[in-house]
Amino acid sequence: MESRQENNGQEKSREDADDIRYMKEAVRQAKKAYALGETPIGCVIVHEGKIIGRGYNRRNTDKSPLAHAEISAIKKAAKKLGDWRIEECTLYVTLEPCQMCAGAIVQARIPRVVIGCMNPKAGCAGSIVNLLQMERFNHQADVKRGVLEEECSQMMKQFFRELRERKKTKKTCIALRTWPTDVTPAVNSAQAPSRHPEGSA
Ligand SMILES: [Zn+2]
Repeated sequence: MESRQENNGQEKSREDADDIRYMKEAVRQAKKAYALGETPIGCVIVHEGKIIGRGYNRRNTDKSPLAHAEISAIKKAAKKLGDWRIEECTLYVTLEPCQMCAGAIVQARIPRVVIGCMNPKAGCAGSIVNLLQMERFNHQADVKRGVLEEECSQMMKQFFRELRERKKTKKTCIALRTWPTDVTPAVNSAQAPSRHPEGSA
């Protein structure tokens, strides 16, 4: 009895360590979005200890409302497995999925989802609704929340802080009819998400 508990404990801590390791990979993906001036959201899908799908938010870059991190990672993972079902996998995402991505996770039958930080204004894995665990759907996922939460949420906060600063600088420049060389007006500020400032991707 005692040894089984011990084994469970060891398994649990190994799982926790893996979750942190793969969430770091998702953060790495999110940073690619950040570098493009996109809301920093990243995702990886892991199958038998291997990453089989990676993705990051490219909504503005691709001019597509479908270009979310999770959708991109799901497409790649499905291709790799040669099946629309992505079973026996864990999906790691830095921000709570939106309704589209939560829907895709259910459609793909992904059994386990690990989330960095929550998205109170648009999240559909517990914030607004919990599409991942609705009993009336034919599939429910196990959900773990708050892995590298601080790092994921700080990354979002920093992104939006910089975005606000850039917008302010741009306004000042327009008012003064000057344009400093270190400010690029077209990228980042004009195309950045404005309707959902906390990120709905
Ligand atoms: Zn999404």
